[in-house]
Amino acid sequence: MSDFDVVIIGGGPGGYVAALRAAQLGMRTALVERDRVGGLCLNWGCIPSKALLWNAEIVNLVRQGDTWGIVYDNLRLDPARAVDRSRKVVDRMVSGVEFLLQKRGVTLIQGSGKLAGAGVVAVDGQEVRGDAVIIATGARPRSLPGVEVDGEVVLTSREALELRETPQRVVIVGGGPIGCEFAYYWRAYGAEVTILEMLDHLLPLEDADVSAQVERAFKKQGIAFRTGARVAAVERGKGGATVRFSAGGKDEAVEADKVLMGVGFQPNTEDLGLEAAGVETDRGWVRVDAELRTTAPGVYAIGDVTGRLMLAHVASAMGVYVVERLAGLQPPPLEYEKMPRATYCQPQVGSVGLTEAQARERGHDVRVGRFPFRANGKAVATEHTDGMIKVVADAATGEILGVHLVGPDATELLAEATLGLTLESTPRELGWVVHAHPTLSEAVKEAALAVDGEAIHFID
Ligand code: FAD
Repeated sequence: MSDFDVVIIGGGPGGYVAALRAAQLGMRTALVERDRVGGLCLNWGCIPSKALLWNAEIVNLVRQGDTWGIVYDNLRLDPARAVDRSRKVVDRMVSGVEFLLQKRGVTLIQGSGKLAGAGVVAVDGQEVRGDAVIIATGARPRSLPGVEVDGEVVLTSREALELRETPQRVVIVGGGPIGCEFAYYWRAYGAEVTILEMLDHLLPLEDADVSAQVERAFKKQGIAFRTGARVAAVERGKGGATVRFSAGGKDEAVEADKVLMGVGFQPNTEDLGLEAAGVETDRGWVRVDAELRTTAPGVYAIGDVTGRLMLAHVASAMGVYVVERLAGLQPPPLEYEKMPRATYCQPQVGSVGLTEAQARERGHDVRVGRFPFRANGKAVATEHTDGMIKVVADAATGEILGVHLVGPDATELLAEATLGLTLESTPRELGWVVHAHPTLSEAVKEAALAVDGEAIHFID
């Protein structure tokens, strides 16, 4: 008999949530973690970055104090204290997870796990047996070929999150969510920031209207960016680097004190015994089917290590899905397109479902409703009028296909849009719901009404 019903390798938001849910369902559960539980998200990703971004928001509000009649002399910013605070937030969150695991009766095994035969996980020499094994080992930031991360001048988000001084000149390679978040943070603290993005827009996976709004807002904030810019080399010099790139057929260069590589991730699949166990990978990412089964019987994979929509809440949803199925429940299938995506620069960005372009590519006759925050009372009252909400719907069926938000608290407002999509609501239903006044959420209702040209507080 196995020691455990399920053994999970990796204690990030995929693994630890799977462990908590498994234990809640009465399964004998082991969680193997080589570092601190919480994974990339709690330790070096979502949580510390959001703590720093909150600082950036305060800094920007204080800088605009005159707007509210708040006048001061001698503003002094201490980024080291912002970092210290972010690390305290991390410690608190990690302790919380440790407490939950212990209370729920999850056996936490500290060490590096590796598949070592059917249902066997070797942890630094010790064998742990489980009826099922879940790989949840995540991924880590990567660099470009030929660009070495030295942790001093050339950084990934890992080192950037611990930077105690604001660099004077920063080049960020990659204008995705992580690049845009760090750009906003460093700019708030006074850095000269340049983003180099290879594709045509910042946040290139978002709806084109949303990217355009973020670009406009970044220009206003003094964040420089180049799109269609392919980085060729990062040359280390004395105390800094020269970043060489080509854009529009021309070779150019920009000098930086720090270079942040925000170009993507590589899977943590080395030394996991995957090949011997018959777990196939695709360029390192663990291959899974719709039920998150790997190619080895009894072995599942969840979260970033699968290379699917690499977000913490997606990893957690995958974890819950697998253990519920192992427990004999029938959770609804995972629909990645109905899972929300969020970026926490200002203006914030939230999206769920198809962009307008994607909807058209898939042959939908599309109808779009837009509502700008400048027509929303709460946004005006708080001076957060940049941005809008866009609802993309199918003209024939009325089904909401996507919702795209850019503006104040977009990442919070996103929940309503996600619920709408999940419940297959129509814009009319979303527009019918009574929203408290004055709230930013009224903009969701109005954008839904705008699909049929019926927004109350805005004339397009
Ligand atoms: P991970 O969190 O990577 O956890 C994997 C765990 O496995 C780690 O703890 C690791 O130590 C452990 N491990 C690996 N190999 C072994 C082994 N052999 N034995 C034992 N343990 C092992 N996502 C969001 O949704 N929202 C955000 O705002 C957000 N912000 C981010 C900001 C930054 C700067 C970064 C870098 C990422 C951000 N992400 C965000 C992404 C998010 O962190 C990941 O999607 C999420 O952590 C994936 O969870 P996971 O459980 O799959 O893997």
